[in-house]
Formats: sequence, C-alpha cells, structure tokens
Amino acid sequence: MTDEHPTRHMTPDEFRVAGYAVVDWVARYLETLERFPVLSRVEPGAIRRQLPDAPPQDGEQLEAILADLDAIILPGITHWQAPQFYGYFPANASPPAILGDVVSSGLGVQGMLWSTSPACTELETHILDWLVGLLGLPPAFASGAGGGGVIQDTASSATLCAVLAARERATGFAANRTGLDRPLTAYASSQAHSSVEKAVGIAGIGKDRLRLIEVDDRFAMRPDMLDHAIRADREAGLTPCFVCATVGSTSVTAIDPVAAVGAVCREHGLWLHVDAALAGSAAICPEFRWVHDGVELADSYCFNPHKWLLTNFDCDCFYVADRQALIRTLTVTPEYLRNVASEAGAVFDYRDWHVPLGRRFRALKLWFVLRHYGVRGLQQHIRHHVHLTRMVAEWVRQDPDFHLAAPVTLNLVCFRHRRDDTFNERLLCELNASGKLFLTHTKIDGHLVLRLAIGGTYTLQRHVEAAWDTIRAAARLLAAGQP
Ligand code: PLP
Repeated sequence: MTDEHPTRHMTPDEFRVAGYAVVDWVARYLETLERFPVLSRVEPGAIRRQLPDAPPQDGEQLEAILADLDAIILPGITHWQAPQFYGYFPANASPPAILGDVVSSGLGVQGMLWSTSPACTELETHILDWLVGLLGLPPAFASGAGGGGVIQDTASSATLCAVLAARERATGFAANRTGLDRPLTAYASSQAHSSVEKAVGIAGIGKDRLRLIEVDDRFAMRPDMLDHAIRADREAGLTPCFVCATVGSTSVTAIDPVAAVGAVCREHGLWLHVDAALAGSAAICPEFRWVHDGVELADSYCFNPHKWLLTNFDCDCFYVADRQALIRTLTVTPEYLRNVASEAGAVFDYRDWHVPLGRRFRALKLWFVLRHYGVRGLQQHIRHHVHLTRMVAEWVRQDPDFHLAAPVTLNLVCFRHRRDDTFNERLLCELNASGKLFLTHTKIDGHLVLRLAIGGTYTLQRHVEAAWDTIRAAARLLAAGQP
C-alpha cells in the first residue's frame, strides 16, 4: 500500500498555476470582447467536426486545452457579454459573480439539506431576505413571515413550481393521489413567456387549458377579460387554479396590472404568480419600484438576477407568501435524508423548494455581487441602461425612416423601418451578419419588429451611438438598392 493517489490530480501548486492561467484567459477575453463578431458565424456541425471522435486516453496539459478554447470554441461563441449584444434580454455576467462561482466550485458543496452545508442554506435565505427590502417586495415574502425565497436555476423552473403548488392547493393537495377529477385551468396574457405554457403542460393541467388573455393597447393583460374567462370556465364545470401576471414581457416589456389581476385572483381564490424575470431587477431603484405595484396580492413571484443584476447565469430568485404550500407540494423524504435538524423543523431544506434534490451554492455569486457593487452600484447599473434606452428611443422618434412599435418601459426599444416586413427582415439579417451588433425581432400586430435590449455589463453610450449609426446606414444602403 502507498498513500499515493492512483488518479493524477493537480497538486495545489499546479492548480494555483493553472487557475491563474485560466483567470488570465477569461480576463483577456473580457478585454477583447468588442473585437469579435457578436453573433457566431459558424455553420451547423462546424464545431463538432473539429473535435476528436473519442476523448484522450491519457490526460493532456492545460496549455493544449486553452489552445483549443481559442481555436475551436471561441469561433462558436455568440458573445452575450459583448457591449454590442442587444438581442433577447441580457444575461449579465460580472467579475465578482464569476469569482463567487469559482469559490462555489472550489467548495464543491451540495446544499440539498440545511445539514449538508448550513452556510449554503443560511446565506441564501439571508440574501433573499435582503432583496425583499431592496426591491420593495411584500414583507410576507420574507423568511421571518410565513413565506421565503429560494434560488432556482431559471424563471421557467420557478413558474413550474408555482403552477405545481397552485394545482395542489386547488385540489386539497390530493392531485397526486386521486388524479384531477375536475379539469383545472390556468391563465396568462397572450404576451406571457412560453415557460408558462411549458409549466402548465408539465404539471398535467394540459396546455389547451391555459387561457391566453387578451391585452390592451400597451400589451398588458386585461383584468376584465381574465375575470370573464374564469367565470366562463367555472360555468363549464372546470376548476380555475392559476394565473401568471407578467411584469416586463419578453416581446415588448409590457407590465400587467398586477393589483387589478390580483383582485380578480383573490375574488375567485386563484394562485397568482408574478413573472418579473427581467424587470424585477429595476426595482432596486426607488423610481422604478412601481413595477412591483400589486405584488402584495401574489402567492409567488420571481425575477432573474442573471438577466439584469450582474449575476452570472443561473440565478433566479423565487418567493412564496406561504412556504408551507410549496413545501407540501414538493417534499418527499426517504429514510436516507432524515436528520435531526430537519426533523426538529428548525431549518429550511431547500430540496423541498424546487424540483431537483441537489443544489449548488449559488448564493455565493449573488453575495459577491451585492458586496462588490453595493446597492448604489447596482442602482447605477440599472439607471445607466434605462438612460441609454431612452436616448435610443428618442433617436428613433426623431428619425423619419423609423418608428417605435411599442411603448418603451425600461431597457427595450421595439422599432421598425417604415417600409414593409420584408425590408425589416432583410435589415435585421444584414445587421446581424455585419458582426457589429446583435438584435432580435418579435411580431406586433402581425408585423416584424426589431428589438434592441440594452443591458450589457459593459455597454456604454459610444456603443449605442455606433449601433444606431450602423442601423441607419444599413437601412439607407438597403433602401438605395430597392425600388
Ligand atoms: N419570463 C420572462 C418574462 C422572460 O423574458 C424570460 C426569458 O427571457 C423567461 C421568463 C424565461 O427565463 P429563464 O431562462 O430564466 O427560464
């Protein structure tokens, strides 16, 4: 017997050297972000063709891996952190969040139970309580009241948990034993994110029992139409159980009237979930806290620091007003997970607050972010983007060739050229092919609309000025080539 390990691990000293090299690689990437074409230009299959058929039998040096990162992987990257990335909503990364993630990986903690790492649970509970105050969320969401918050991977998972809890509450927590004896129904606006439909499908309610409620001229849910749909379903013998209100819709950042929607939910006894995936972060600024008007009527709520609060993917904060409803929905306790702290009921076991059993120490990255930037730094981050967005909106308004296609609420400008859909589609293709910026599109009233979302960690005024110049120049060129 020797005490030499049969596997060739890095020694701590080798790890130190390799770690510095990797941090250098990331730092160099961040320094040179602007130089890459924003949207990857590779053809399907191009990355795989460069990878060997089988992994190496013997281990390789880090230098070889880093060389392949540059040669093979980087060309296949769409640069989400580039300051000229305006497509989708942002997925903010930041150096303190990256470092928090490194520490999380280093600790290698799996925080399914309080007892499997008390700090993993308690830091998370504490930070989520901080955020209740910082975002002006209802006190009921704090752990000291009957509610509480938990970090989920994504808003999609949060919405799924909300739908499952709503289903259980509506069926006396018996749906799993008895099945759905009376069909359930769920409601969201026609602008709600596709994750609501997915969740309703997974929960067994049935996608065809999700009612997509009409919106008003600002693309916000009409509470009168919601009320109407609920009554019609009741009369038809169905059991309405769940409503999702969206605060900051994906297409145009529309804000549903949560207070009025909540009043309808209370009247009919439905679970109200508020999806503020992007817009919730804005509430860290007092002047944008109105986005949370009415959330005190919600049973659950989520927002994504991984979208607009400088915290690397994945990080969604999910809150419930009554944690017992959620825990009762999701808890399953095999013998091997029993332990003294849990049995005493003195602790949170976050495995009961989401679908997976295991969980990473994600609170670390959020903690690093909150401590590095401070509240004031995060407020400046949001205000900076809203300011740039308003500037771009003004340029669109002033330009005779373009017009705004939807109200500008926070950090998204939806606009189109005055020519037809084909022209706008070609314009979008040319812009994205230029590599100078990345935009996405949506459809409004059947027409193609360009979306320019400003939220990059490193986006400055000079970037949006350059983007607008590029857009106008490309439109002029295209128009010159068309009758
Ligand atoms: N809800 C809204 C309003 C969104 O805009 C998005 C994504 O953009 C989502 C939910 C889904 O987010 P996630 O990727 O965290 O599931």
